[in-house]
Amino acid sequence: ASLAQIAKEDQKIRAYLTVDEEKVLARAKEVDNGIRSGKYTGPLAGVPIAVKDNICTKDMRTTCASKILENFVPFYDATAVTRITDAGMVILGKTNMDEFAMGSTTETSAFAVTKNPWDTEHVPGGSSGGSCAAVAAGECFAALGSDTGGSIRQPSSYCGVTGIKPTYGTVSRFGLVAYASSLDQIGPIGKNAADCAALLETITIHDEKDSTSMERTDTDFTSAIGKDIRGMKIGIPKEYLSDGLDDDVRAAIEQCAAYLKECGADVEYFDLGLMEYTIPAYYVIAAAEASSNLERFDGVKYGYRAKEYEGLHDMYKRSRSEGFGPEVKRRIMLGSFVLSSGYYDAYYLKALKVRALIKKAFDDAFAKYDIILGPAAPTAAPKIGTSLSDPMKMYLSDIYTVAVNLAGLPGLTVPCSMNEKGLPIGVQLLGDCFREKTLFAAASAIE
Ligand code: GLN
Repeated sequence: ASLAQIAKEDQKIRAYLTVDEEKVLARAKEVDNGIRSGKYTGPLAGVPIAVKDNICTKDMRTTCASKILENFVPFYDATAVTRITDAGMVILGKTNMDEFAMGSTTETSAFAVTKNPWDTEHVPGGSSGGSCAAVAAGECFAALGSDTGGSIRQPSSYCGVTGIKPTYGTVSRFGLVAYASSLDQIGPIGKNAADCAALLETITIHDEKDSTSMERTDTDFTSAIGKDIRGMKIGIPKEYLSDGLDDDVRAAIEQCAAYLKECGADVEYFDLGLMEYTIPAYYVIAAAEASSNLERFDGVKYGYRAKEYEGLHDMYKRSRSEGFGPEVKRRIMLGSFVLSSGYYDAYYLKALKVRALIKKAFDDAFAKYDIILGPAAPTAAPKIGTSLSDPMKMYLSDIYTVAVNLAGLPGLTVPCSMNEKGLPIGVQLLGDCFREKTLFAAASAIE
């Protein structure tokens, strides 16, 4: 059924970069036999899933939507992929994304522009736009995405699906092509909170192959679905609802807050602070880490190599110039600049200090509240072609998502409303570290 839906819709939506029908059907048969013989017994056995194209899949192209990795076929699976495969899930294919997960619309992909299934003139958001569009269009039952500064939560809001960025360290980053290692986290995207909880339970594991992977207890996320939220303390930062937020999004958040009150939660407004520093700190740190992580793409070990060059240095230069797109180059230049001697203290070190203050502000807030509620993005999905021309504007639209990654917190987006144009609007729920269950309880109450 998923393959039929892909055949019917994906010419138009372009959610996928790779689908190998024959392989998928062979795998489905194998899983079917495995279910019959008792090899696969869990709730996700046989469920078709899509995987973002920056998560390594053995013998299946993993491009990061970049020309530099156009023909890269990994010889190993990411740990998250091993987990879903061991659970008997069937991988349908790899989904489109912003190049190396840098962007907020999926338009920086070197290969295709993914359309928002609700209105194909609009973007699906990004960078996990392919994964969210695939779920929204019924081209899979769930998907894996990655979130460095909002890439699961923002496109989930634009596409009317549910997605969660887990607490940093919950899902192994082994096999996730690194963008900004101290911020990156893989997470589930699904039709509802229950599907995301089941998937997160499956991919959560302590992994020695990722030195930042955590040993977690209390990971029966599914048990939180449908839990009573009476008495839950919910805080809404006043600055989240101020200037720069579209009226339809503000109305959606206020409506959601009123509903949660009706459900018996205590809802109040408070000052979180530091909002104006989150975007600058995030883009300094993310670009710095990206410039270092992307050094490995030099045309030598794997990936694209320029056809013509004169000597080794020229080969590096041409391979990288021809292989990377403009947004990735911008980040590499910005990151190299803030890390260079003479500027390191003024930019990178200062950003790290701001990061510590942001974490402290959240610690203070979570001493009072179980959940922080707010938008996932200042607007519903913008039209295709309106963001690329103004990168600064695109960066500023990440205002509600990036602080969560800087502080390592879990954040979940759940659909809550629809605007006049028929585009979905999601609400974002933030929790203290390791409090995913609180988020799932509140999300299931909202839906
Ligand atoms: N839009 C943000 C960026 O471009 C976040 C992307 C992400 O989470 N991967 O960096």
